[in-house]
Amino acid sequence: MQLSIDDLPMFFGPEHHALAARLRELAPAIARVERVAGAEAARDAAAVAALAEAGLFAHVAPLGGQVDARALCLCREMLGYVSPRADSIFAVQGLGVHPLLLAGSEAQRAQVPAFAAGARIAAFALTEPEAGSDVAAIATSARADGQGYVLDGEKLFISNLGVAGVATVFAQVRGETSPGGRTLTAFWVPLDAPGITVTAQTAIAPHPIGALTLRGVRVPSEARVGQVGDGFSLALRTLDAFRVSVGAAAVGMARRAMDEALCHVTSRVQFGKPLAEQPLVAAHLADCAVDLDAARLLVLRAAHAKDAGAGRSATSAVSIAKLGATEAAQRIIDRAVQLFGGRGVMAGAVVETLYRAIRPLRIYEGTSEIQRTIIGRALVAGPLPDLASLRGEGGVAPPSDGSG
Ligand SMILES: Cc1cc2nc3c(=O)[nH]c(=O)nc-3n(C[C@H](O)[C@H](O)[C@H](O)COP(=O)(O)OP(=O)(O)OC[C@H]3O[C@@H](n4cnc5c(N)ncnc54)[C@H](O)[C@@H]3O)c2cc1C
Repeated sequence: MQLSIDDLPMFFGPEHHALAARLRELAPAIARVERVAGAEAARDAAAVAALAEAGLFAHVAPLGGQVDARALCLCREMLGYVSPRADSIFAVQGLGVHPLLLAGSEAQRAQVPAFAAGARIAAFALTEPEAGSDVAAIATSARADGQGYVLDGEKLFISNLGVAGVATVFAQVRGETSPGGRTLTAFWVPLDAPGITVTAQTAIAPHPIGALTLRGVRVPSEARVGQVGDGFSLALRTLDAFRVSVGAAAVGMARRAMDEALCHVTSRVQFGKPLAEQPLVAAHLADCAVDLDAARLLVLRAAHAKDAGAGRSATSAVSIAKLGATEAAQRIIDRAVQLFGGRGVMAGAVVETLYRAIRPLRIYEGTSEIQRTIIGRALVAGPLPDLASLRGEGGVAPPSDGSG
């Protein structure tokens, strides 16, 4: 199994090569998750067990607090290739725990090793029926009542519900204010608390997901993560830490589709020769290769910049990577389905599963439109290109007789 580190080693350090070797060893065990018989829940549980056994959750819940973006990308590239289900459980574990790493109390941070080991699973509950892309519209409330808070509200499309035992829940605090008047705040909430109802949802992709209803849920003050009003910043910083890895998961899924298509077109004979020898089929493969390389380069540039501590300048590169890689992966997988003909749309075909699995990546952790908005804003906010000297402006007088 090829990983981007193989032909793009310049983006990685020596520790990443050891991780890549380990990921290759682990791939068959993770792939077996999808062959577990029974209901989806059985495969979700098998994915949790396989990831825990492999020790991979330590990459999304690092005890030192700092996520290694390139290691995370390597993991998600492998997981996307063998099991998009395991990939989503893995990544959302990181989203759930990251606010603790950023702002958790000592007692909250002391819980992180259990998540790094995969003994406990977390969720990240931001989205609501009326607050999707517009995070500021969150209506879930946390009423301060002296000893703690009482939470009421609805959360929608929350990944890992069904496998998680706890969630970072974002709510607007009523009855207390931050110095800046901000109220959005994160809470670390056990999902078996009285007043919580979890309702499973079914996505087109293999992906544990559900809705969360909170009715008079009492949590102690110690459940608050950071200060009142820190929630918006914690949510955005968490998404920023993981967004580039969505692109890496897309690369893994796209590469798998392309590999499946390559094997198919070299063996399937039509008009007396393998499909691969038909010029239009070769053109499809070439387009896939160009898209895949572009996606990989965008992802690795952004991950490298994040690890180098590029800060705000990485935000735009990360959005470009997420947008470019997920959109490219969608095109690659669509072409792979086309190359399989009727077999590509039969339920259970690998490319059919990938066709469903890739779709949510263009929506979650900031839709493609939101990434375009971020990129566009950064472009016009930055220094404008200096074209004056090329135009002959800026102090050098043009010839007056028109001879120049
Ligand atoms: C599989 C899956 C897993 C998810 N997991 C989680 C999770 O674990 N935790 C969690 O909190 N959330 C999760 N989400 C929710 C996800 O983050 C939201 O679906 C996403 O932010 C979009 O919100 P929305 O669905 O309400 O769409 P909306 O915000 O209503 O957007 C609908 C459409 O309008 C576009 N749009 C919105 N605003 C603008 C604008 N200003 N300019 C241009 N276009 C715009 C969007 O791009 C989109 O195309 C998940 C979603 C999916 C599909």
